[in-house]
Amino acid sequence: MAQTSVQIPENLLPKDGRFGSGPSKVRQGQLDTLAALGAGVMGTSHRQPPVRDLVARVRRGVAELLGAPDGYEVVLGNGGSTSFWDAATFSLVRHRALHAAHGEFGAKFAAATTAAPFLDPSIVVRAEPGTRADVRHDDDVDVYAWAHNETSTGVVSPVVRPRADGGDRATDQLTLVDATSIAGAAVVDLTQADAYYFAPQKVFGSDGGLWLAVLSPAALERVEEIAATDRWIPESLSLQQAVTNSRLDQTLNTPAIATLALLADQLDWFADNGGLSWAAGRSRASSDHVYAWATEREWATPFVADPAHRSPVVATIDLDASIDHTTVIAALRDHGILDVFPYRKLGRNQLRMGLFPAVDLADVEALTACVDVVVDQLR
Ligand SMILES: *Cc1c(COP(=O)(O)O)cnc(C)c1O
Repeated sequence: MAQTSVQIPENLLPKDGRFGSGPSKVRQGQLDTLAALGAGVMGTSHRQPPVRDLVARVRRGVAELLGAPDGYEVVLGNGGSTSFWDAATFSLVRHRALHAAHGEFGAKFAAATTAAPFLDPSIVVRAEPGTRADVRHDDDVDVYAWAHNETSTGVVSPVVRPRADGGDRATDQLTLVDATSIAGAAVVDLTQADAYYFAPQKVFGSDGGLWLAVLSPAALERVEEIAATDRWIPESLSLQQAVTNSRLDQTLNTPAIATLALLADQLDWFADNGGLSWAAGRSRASSDHVYAWATEREWATPFVADPAHRSPVVATIDLDASIDHTTVIAALRDHGILDVFPYRKLGRNQLRMGLFPAVDLADVEALTACVDVVVDQLR
């Protein structure tokens, strides 16, 4: 039932109205592939070839898409990126971590290492939502951590190792990059990270519940080093367990098979169309459109003031105080345009649009045209 009296002409509506920042649009092609796989893989053992082949395809596909350097390995486990934070706290931080936190997700990983009784208090560099905190070199830490894309605010950060002034890379420090909402939608040089990790329900339009990480040789060594100490590590959060199982194209415990199938199909779709730069170009075109559109409206402003910090995949647009975002969102939802609400704890009068590669530019153009119509009728 319609919640508002706002009318949007049918011909302006996007073909697909899913603009969530995760879970995000799952392409029909992915759903068709899943249905076609059917009983050949669904409901079969994850220790047998059909599912292990799927895991192998995913591991190979991720390594190829992201250009994993020699010696890097794609490791996966259950529980999504949130579980990876806990696993990294147990298996990658030796004594102390340094985090950048300028939004929910960066802050959550910082909270995880800070709360660990076996670690020294974390150092957390903070910045206001909508701006960016950058991690700098510090001799007292053995892990650096930040989000490539802070999904709660729409701020993008470079993936570049912190270095001592004029110095080389500090050899014994690991760089862990949360790429949950941008891996696969931005060109990246993985020699600059030791763990580049993500979950498949954002850029890859799959389902949640899994984490994947591209780990460097230094990270793999750290996992072994810490596993050999007397630190207690729960089995389900042990990266050593995850590495051992991943090398066999398995997970420690039962994974969601549909998640793997949808992810594998998206990896094929990216590869068949031109790979990472193609996928990144699609998101970039969509976000360029949205930021230009907002800049031209007197009642809309990109939340992230510095254009260089604006995310290519998650656009956050503040609305003038005279326009209530909840009314706009309700009117859009009445017309099948979904999930453009701001991050729940941010509390801003804002629209947030997930512009992952699966989303078509024509639909993004339709979305902004629909917002124009809604705002016109509300004013
Ligand atoms: C969504 C998100 C997470 C959490 O992912 P889950 O798979 O739900 O645990 C972590 N970090 C970032 C940057 C995210 O966008």
